[in-house]
Amino acid sequence: MPLIVQSSEYAPLSQRLDEIVRPLASAFASPLSVLHVAGLVALSDGKRIALSPSARYGQEPKKGNGMTKKVADLLVDVLAEAGVRRIYGVVGDSLNGITDSIRVKNNLEWVHVRHEEVAAFAAGAEAHLTGTLAVCAGSCGPGNMHLINGLYDCQRNRVPVLAIAAHIPSREIGSDYFQETDPKHIFAQCSHYCELVSDPEQMPRILETAIQTAISKRGVSVIVLPGDVALKDAVQGPRVRFHEQKSALCPSDEELNVLAELLNRAEKITILGGAGCAGAHAELMEVAGKLQAPIVHAYRGKEFIEYDNPFDVGMTGLLGFSSGYYAMMNCEILLMIGTDFPYRDFYPKDATIVQIDLRGEQLGRRTKVDYGIVGDTKATLRAYRSDVRSGQSSLLTLAVSLLPKKIRNVCPTSQRFDEPFPVHIIPKHFLPAITTAHQVINGSVILNT
Ligand SMILES: Cc1cc2nc3c(=O)[nH]c(=O)nc-3n(C[C@H](O)[C@H](O)[C@H](O)COP(=O)(O)OP(=O)(O)OC[C@H]3O[C@@H](n4cnc5c(N)ncnc54)[C@H](O)[C@@H]3O)c2cc1C
Repeated sequence: MPLIVQSSEYAPLSQRLDEIVRPLASAFASPLSVLHVAGLVALSDGKRIALSPSARYGQEPKKGNGMTKKVADLLVDVLAEAGVRRIYGVVGDSLNGITDSIRVKNNLEWVHVRHEEVAAFAAGAEAHLTGTLAVCAGSCGPGNMHLINGLYDCQRNRVPVLAIAAHIPSREIGSDYFQETDPKHIFAQCSHYCELVSDPEQMPRILETAIQTAISKRGVSVIVLPGDVALKDAVQGPRVRFHEQKSALCPSDEELNVLAELLNRAEKITILGGAGCAGAHAELMEVAGKLQAPIVHAYRGKEFIEYDNPFDVGMTGLLGFSSGYYAMMNCEILLMIGTDFPYRDFYPKDATIVQIDLRGEQLGRRTKVDYGIVGDTKATLRAYRSDVRSGQSSLLTLAVSLLPKKIRNVCPTSQRFDEPFPVHIIPKHFLPAITTAHQVINGSVILNT
């Protein structure tokens, strides 16, 4: 469920996000004071007052000189250093250590929502818009369980999100305690990494692994943190830097030659592109031009492919257009690029299918694939050498003519945005909503599609 953001100005994404988040937060937050389940944290007039951590967690913070770093402090500091700006969530007793640390340190913003599901979706939207790590949190039991829908969405959309699942007191784990669940089990299917911190000595490494995994594998990591462990003294671990993959994977010469030979021989080629074409618009247009191939896009590829695209024949699938369906079903060769389009019935039965994807495990997952190539879209299309065709192919002419006129008329309204999400297209029928929302949130518009 991607968000579409349109702004009249080209403000930096992080600044625009602040403008969006603040009014959203106040829209989701209760205007009244909120007394959460166990009544341990109160929100009043937008200010957070963290009451004493529960005796239930059996660990009052040390009074001393106030300098002792807690596990919760370590978490908050590392997140802030990693560039995280905010945590979306609902306050609750097992989260007290973390929310109190945020209040004292003031290096992260706590964005209060009414339901943890919103927190996970909001973190997913932030990660999608910025391409960087976003964080959500839920308290023990039902609190973190509510994150589940949003986390599935983040995992499927391959956006980097860290979820903090606060947990029941560590001494009670395994006793069928009040609000006890097994978060490691619950989140296993919607995360790349999910680990319980039962001792402060584990925290630095688990935290680092969780962040690095979410960034590298592009998906969800979950840290399960009992409330009492969050309030224990932290063990200082080595600081880490989090690494983003900058290298681009390019297929071998041999593979590129096979690809060129195959495509040069065929008359009717259709390209099916998806979200994996992000940032490769120019390369995609160049190759489609050489091949005279119509471009069908999968849903998540829309924002990266549809704009300024003379080869566009729309989407296919349950919500797709006849033009997209026609182009897919009548080609000799289907060239899938950076897509995980799931509907088997919308793939051609007799065509030769070539798939290019960054992840080898995606090859052939949705349909039979005759030639699978592991490679980054931009690098592969740049390296690809093909003959230039003269004249428009009959398949392209026909498929384009089938694209509903109103869709073609809408596309030129697209605008460019910064990498990694350069383009967002707003269909005409959303315009009245945009006008209203524009007034509400100060120049930026969010629409759910
Ligand atoms: C009710 C409902 C109805 C839907 N109807 C439709 C429909 O009619 N039509 C439709 O298309 N979708 C529809 N969807 C969405 C659909 O389920 C899929 O999520 C969508 O088609 C996948 O889009 P995608 O292939 O662009 O993105 P993804 O699933 O994210 O796939 C992207 C692929 O690109 C690869 N990749 C990432 N980066 C790179 C890179 N740099 N280089 C190369 N490869 C890369 C990834 O490994 C992945 O395989 C519907 C969803 C719902 C909930």
